[in-house]
Amino acid sequence: MKKHLKFWGTRGSCSVSGPEYLHFGGNSCSLEICYGDAHVIIDAGTGIRALGDTFAGITPLKINLLLTHTHWDHIIGFPFFDPVYSAATHLMIWAPGSTGRSCKQLFNDLLAIEFFPIHLEEVKSTLEFKTLQQKTPITFGPITLDFHTTNHPGLAYGVKITTPHQTIGYITDNEFLQGYHGEAADVTEELLEPHRGLIDFFQGCDLIIHEAQYTPEEYLQKVGWGHSSALNAVTLVSLLKPKQWGVIHHDPKHTDEDLKRLCEWTKEKLSSLHLKIPVEWIPDNHVIELK
Ligand SMILES: [Zn+2]
Ligand SMILES: [Zn+2]
Repeated sequence: MKKHLKFWGTRGSCSVSGPEYLHFGGNSCSLEICYGDAHVIIDAGTGIRALGDTFAGITPLKINLLLTHTHWDHIIGFPFFDPVYSAATHLMIWAPGSTGRSCKQLFNDLLAIEFFPIHLEEVKSTLEFKTLQQKTPITFGPITLDFHTTNHPGLAYGVKITTPHQTIGYITDNEFLQGYHGEAADVTEELLEPHRGLIDFFQGCDLIIHEAQYTPEEYLQKVGWGHSSALNAVTLVSLLKPKQWGVIHHDPKHTDEDLKRLCEWTKEKLSSLHLKIPVEWIPDNHVIELK
């Protein structure tokens, strides 16, 4: 029985390519969850294009695609996801309620004639749009997914995936401790207050997948952009105390060498705080086996 997470895309903000990105890859976010009969895709960044090829010849095909939010890097692969064009596909698209326009309207706009040659009305698959609600779990066979808002412009969710044996927090876009540039030891209750709901929601997860998009120096110029400095991400992880931390949503400016340096810096920071939490920067196509 297949039980794993596969990271088809781990880049944030904008997909990249080139010799300086060969190790970590350049596809924007898309995660595949396989757990026995349960199969769920989270986010439709450019990573979902290659994932689509794995469904070739499967009919009928029922796919659940959940979106953490509808920023470009999480939906731009959708028009290149082959199952969309097959009459044998029933595609359920789950997304957070937006600020005014429905998810269907947003996808309609994504495929407007000015942006793409095939209109949403013309695709052959059956599309069904559903709204995700905070703390309203959805069960897919043996696994349950639940949602909590993150600190990110617009409405974005982090996802808690519960299997019979493990709990995984998947948080792609979250600016933890917005505007804070100090050390973990100096973080006050007042600073944590806006994030308390998220901390409580994801505390106790076995595995946390959370971004650490900026170096502390870069973050000085990027407050309010919706992403965490590695230093603030370390503080969050120190509070969540997972058994393992995986980092995704890598900044498009960060080459393989930059990401390896940031990973080493983060390991040293965790160790200086006496935290024995293994951390890894996750590359495209990485698989984490589940119990
Ligand atoms: Zn993003
Ligand atoms: Zn975003």
